[in-house]
Amino acid sequence: MAEIRLENLRHSYLANPGADEDYALKRLSLTWQDGGAYALLGPSGCGKTTLLNLISGLLTPTEGKILFNGRDVSHASPEERNIAQVFQFPVIYDTMTVYDNLAFPLRNRQVPEAEIKSRVTEIAEMLELTSTLSNRASGLSADGKQKISLGRGLVRADVNVIMFDEPLTVIDPHLKWKLRSKLKELHQRTRRTMIYVTHDQTEALTFADQVVVMNLGEVVQSGTPVELFEKPQHTFVGHFIGSPGMNVLPCEVNGGKAQFAGRTIAVDNGAAATGKGRTEIGVRPEFVSISRGGLPAEVTRVSDAGRFRIVETRCGGHMVKLLVKEGDTVPEGQTHLVFDPAHTQIYEDGWIAGAKP
Ligand code: ATP
Repeated sequence: MAEIRLENLRHSYLANPGADEDYALKRLSLTWQDGGAYALLGPSGCGKTTLLNLISGLLTPTEGKILFNGRDVSHASPEERNIAQVFQFPVIYDTMTVYDNLAFPLRNRQVPEAEIKSRVTEIAEMLELTSTLSNRASGLSADGKQKISLGRGLVRADVNVIMFDEPLTVIDPHLKWKLRSKLKELHQRTRRTMIYVTHDQTEALTFADQVVVMNLGEVVQSGTPVELFEKPQHTFVGHFIGSPGMNVLPCEVNGGKAQFAGRTIAVDNGAAATGKGRTEIGVRPEFVSISRGGLPAEVTRVSDAGRFRIVETRCGGHMVKLLVKEGDTVPEGQTHLVFDPAHTQIYEDGWIAGAKP
């Protein structure tokens, strides 16, 4: 397994790129530690596949370096990089048995049969495929086939990294949660470096210890699921992660104080705010509550989300959402809102004040 370092990586599909917009991957520097569980999360078109293909060697970066354990592999072939990849759709041989499918990557590398048997048995057990080992793969469901694909990615002990590219797309929704937690368990048991690419926040947050969030070809935040929830570095992360996403409200900033709806709002990062550019307050619905003396608001809609209600209000001319726990009183009509100061941040041009790169 390997530590993967990306240094000032940029990629453009154009022959002579100039402006920032010409780059599918704008500029990226980060380190993925040996043995870590990482997710690459972002909407369609943000550059996830481009980054994956740069790491696996299918693309050569326009600028910057990729290092595996300190060795520059930016121009090395995919074979030299020694990566296992699991794709969106199962890549298996229908006419072979499940056992032979799992053994295939090892046989390709002339691993002795005795070792193959022990590896295949172990992986089959982890993925609950033992009872199907002698069956033809063609008879399996889409879920079963994708499990084989996962197994083929996991079976080799000598790879530098295992990359999963939206691996649960074809999985039946009610089985998704099961395979999701299975993958997490597999990482904990094997401690391989794993990179999981997805546009689904639940998959990313369940699987990874560290999530890299991308938007428009750049990394907007790399952090633990808790960091992404509690301190989004960019309003995009606030919107994209969480359900519902963070409230983002235009505000004025004077002398480190935020003004919204004609009042001064206590915030966590006032001292870092410059007041320049587009200034906004970000506060998650989890950190908005009802309190007399707070900002006047009017309840416009209430929806049930299981263990809590999502309450939509109109406040200072903007929509502000809050969560009310099951059993707590749901406000009606006119009400008053307060934002928890420890979880209310000022954003400037989208970035949390004080952290603009
Ligand atoms: P998806 O989840 O839809 O696959 P993604 O996050 O993986 O999206 P990429 O496929 O990496 O995003 O695309 C990033 C940008 O690069 C997009 O604007 C896309 O149109 C562009 N792009 C991707 N592949 C090529 C290509 N071969 N030639 C030109 N532009 C490309």
